[in-house]
Order: sequence, then C-alpha cells, then structure tokens
Amino acid sequence: MMLKPHFYTKRFTNIKDEWLYDNNITLILADIDNTLVPYHQQGSQDLKGWLDHVQNTGTKVVGTSNSSSERVEKFQDQFGIRALSKCKKPRVKVIKRFLKEEKANRENVIIIGDQLFTDILCGRRLGIKTLLQLDPVERNAPAFKKGIWALQDRLLKHWGIK
Ligand SMILES: [Mg+2]
Repeated sequence: MMLKPHFYTKRFTNIKDEWLYDNNITLILADIDNTLVPYHQQGSQDLKGWLDHVQNTGTKVVGTSNSSSERVEKFQDQFGIRALSKCKKPRVKVIKRFLKEEKANRENVIIIGDQLFTDILCGRRLGIKTLLQLDPVERNAPAFKKGIWALQDRLLKHWGIK
C-alpha cells in the first residue's frame, strides 16, 4: 500500500537514539511545514533540543519542503541544518537527486511528515522508510485541502492508527 506509513508517532520528538539504532537509520528527511514547525512560525525550542539529540547519534537530519527557497533558507539559518526547497512531494526528483549526491543507502533513510499524500507517498516511491506524525503542528490548511485531511483521517481510522 503506497500510502500506508511504516511507522507513526504523535510527534517527531518521540524519535529517540535507541529507535534510530534499532532501525539502522542514519539519515532523516524531515518535512518542515507543519511537521517540524508551524506554517507561520520559525520553530521552537524543543526542535533545537531534538536536533541536538538526534545528531549526537551521528544521524543526519535534512529538511524537506515544498515551499519557496526563501522560507527554507530562513529555516536553515535558524537551525543550522541543510534543507531542500521546492521538493514538490510526492514527486521524487529533488530528493532522489539529493540521495544520489549523498550516496545514501536507502535502507538507512527515513522520511517523516504529516501528510500521507505528499510525504509518505514520496517516501514509498523512493523505497525508503516512512513515518507519519499524527499531531500536525497546526491544521489551518486552505479550504481545498480540507478534503485531503478528511481522507487522510479516514485512512488512518481504517488502518486502526487513529
Ligand atoms: Mg507538511
């Protein structure tokens, strides 16, 4: 099932060192918008703490976003990690190019995000691990996206995840 995440958790801050070791993860591709930070803010203290924790295990964290490079550059400056803009998830081209550049072994890569139809589908297409964050930072999405959220909730209920 291309939309079903391998893993899920309430919030990315639940992802800890032991879990990363157990699952052989060395690279996290983390959705920025509405997963790591709310749309209209620049992030929080617990994100900084989590980045420190994860990076201390030798795991690399790279942001991914469908947003413009301007917003993504601000994020990079604030948190000191690389982030890929205009990813156009669920399309794979931008992230695929990055993984090639990194010579990353796909078994060791996970994508985390708040949306089945962008983040999880993208990860499934890439053949990497996928993790859905169940609590989006905020959900005031545009009206046209409400149907997508409703469908996502329906699928999660169907799978017994929510
Ligand atoms: Mg998102």
